[in-house]
Amino acid sequence: MATTDIHKRLGVRPIINVSGTMTSLGASMVMPEVVEAVAAILPQFVEVDELQKRASSAIARLCGADAGFVTASCSAGISLSVAGAMTGSDLAAIERLPDTTGLRNEVLIQLGHMSSYGAPVDQAIRLTGAKVVPVGQATFARRYQLEGAITERTVAAVYVVSHHVVEYGLIPLEEFSAACHARNIAVIVDAASEYDLSGFLARGADIALYSSHKFLGGLTAGIVAGRKDLVRAAFLQNGGIGRGMKVGKEGIVGTIAALEAWEKRDHAAIRDRESVCLKLWQQILTGRPGVTATIVPDPTNNPLDRLMVTVSAQEAHITAWDLCDRLSRGEPAVIVRDHELEHSRFYLDPCNLHPGQEKIVAARLEAELARARESNEIIATSLDERRNGRAAYLAKWPG
Ligand SMILES: *Cc1c(COP(=O)(O)O)cnc(C)c1O
Repeated sequence: MATTDIHKRLGVRPIINVSGTMTSLGASMVMPEVVEAVAAILPQFVEVDELQKRASSAIARLCGADAGFVTASCSAGISLSVAGAMTGSDLAAIERLPDTTGLRNEVLIQLGHMSSYGAPVDQAIRLTGAKVVPVGQATFARRYQLEGAITERTVAAVYVVSHHVVEYGLIPLEEFSAACHARNIAVIVDAASEYDLSGFLARGADIALYSSHKFLGGLTAGIVAGRKDLVRAAFLQNGGIGRGMKVGKEGIVGTIAALEAWEKRDHAAIRDRESVCLKLWQQILTGRPGVTATIVPDPTNNPLDRLMVTVSAQEAHITAWDLCDRLSRGEPAVIVRDHELEHSRFYLDPCNLHPGQEKIVAARLEAELARARESNEIIATSLDERRNGRAAYLAKWPG
């Protein structure tokens, strides 16, 4: 496969990604339209402010926003939007951050939304000098708690949409926005991985944030969309704390191209192709001792399904995590979606496959499960050790 030449040249391992759109795996397959546009702009000069205005129209059209701009990442978008809510268009205040003396600087977030996307959400808020004020308890938040947390220093509220947040017991966006707007508080929605580009603004958000490098298939970048004054105030942070979150011409052009390609994409055909992969894997797994394979919808209602694979170690002779690890150690490496392993299950995500890779995944699953069944002992390493393995690896990086 021509696509692995680059891996050979770099001396890195090729992988098959059935995990999802992960920064740690190189995000997404960048769309051909994006590659073409980025290659064309790279050797050229262009006025970046003008390019950002062009991005603003594309973002406004697709997101139903007044305006928008492109930054380094969605995470950067959180920091810039919070900073903008605090400073407005005051250039001197922008240069003083993270010193927030004299500014309203309290930012509300439901405790059940204080998750990690590879770094803590609340850190992206604190980076600006803002003070995070958690609302409610881990799995319980009500309007009275939100209203009770508001003070004369409250400036913004961050709302996170993700499979990583608590999915019940919290305040719906419409009610959250209404309560905030009654007290002149800006609502910033982190919708990094959501396909719905206009729904969060329509349901009351003042700012909605997306990643360019996830479902859109752009370069690594973040999209800030929303109310004009707040978007401008966030944009102006490029002359302040946003400098270290700088996006280049390639990221801006890549985002415009990705948005325009998204409009033209045949979403139904893609869904059909994904469904063929899911059914193939389900068919391979069905009837195998100790293995259940169920097609499940995306937890945040993105129009995509995954295969949930539950493994009973007693019958399969291997734990779910050992199966994951064997798949990822193999040749080719198959990386599954593994954030729920303590429930003895993992997921197969069909969104990031090159044609034909679904068959390799099926064959690898078959081979590893057959091998495990032949084992006289149950293959079961320590889940605790695995859980702490990443920290141990990082302590030694780069080796
Ligand atoms: C991926 C993700 C982020 C981080 O996005 P980047 O663009 O990679 O910084 C933030 N929030 C959520 C909910 C995410 O899924």
